[in-house]
Amino acid sequence: MEKIKVTVWNEYYHECTSEKIAKVYPKGIHGAIAEGLEAYPELEVRTATLDMPECGLDEETLNNTDVLIWWAHKRHAAIPDEIAERVQKRVLDGMGFIVLHSGHLCKPFVRLMGTVCRSKWRENNEKERIWVIEPGHPIAHGLPEYIELPQEETYGERFEIPAPDSVVFVSWFSGGEVFRSGCCFHRGMGKIFYFRPGHEAYPTYYRQDIRQVIANAVFWAKPSGGPRPTLGKFVPPLEQVEIADHSDEDHTPVA
Ligand code: ZN
Repeated sequence: MEKIKVTVWNEYYHECTSEKIAKVYPKGIHGAIAEGLEAYPELEVRTATLDMPECGLDEETLNNTDVLIWWAHKRHAAIPDEIAERVQKRVLDGMGFIVLHSGHLCKPFVRLMGTVCRSKWRENNEKERIWVIEPGHPIAHGLPEYIELPQEETYGERFEIPAPDSVVFVSWFSGGEVFRSGCCFHRGMGKIFYFRPGHEAYPTYYRQDIRQVIANAVFWAKPSGGPRPTLGKFVPPLEQVEIADHSDEDHTPVA
């Protein structure tokens, strides 16, 4: 069976600029996420970082990626618009896209949502309780009714996103906020999952339950293998109907 090709992309900034964060993630956040996925023999996992040529998101890498996982926080602006557009196009063409934590403000996600994607936040070591509110969803596979993270960054509604196709998780924080923590979207042929936890100062991505969510999301977001519909061109009728004179007129917009 052909393996699902996963690329774990990370801006890799905090781990290189802060000793405190480097201690939490000595192999980088991407390294910890990749390690969790490497336990699954169905997956072929590689990592990419912002410092690589073309930000690690060259055409060949993207064309050989079934599911792209994205972690970023400080360096969103370092992604050139043309690379953000390249990622967006690949998602529309069927690549799965899993956006983690502060990745909600990255250029490709904002483009795909069409909204600004901001939220409230507070770094205050509060407890997060992530409730599974769609237990029948594939991303909830094997999970308990809730996941409790003893300390995380707090995010709060409103989260400026379009209404998701499904919300799998809702988080409650001990400071009082709630947040749609697991949101699914379809865009074009592609599937997108936003998952909230994973602030760089906490060892969240070593947890088995969080790793399970990310792996479940990979299996959900992989390309469906469904048909490639004919788009944007004249097609003759499948049934025997009369062809009107204007039916093959050129509908291409003019400048
Ligand atoms: Zn954060």
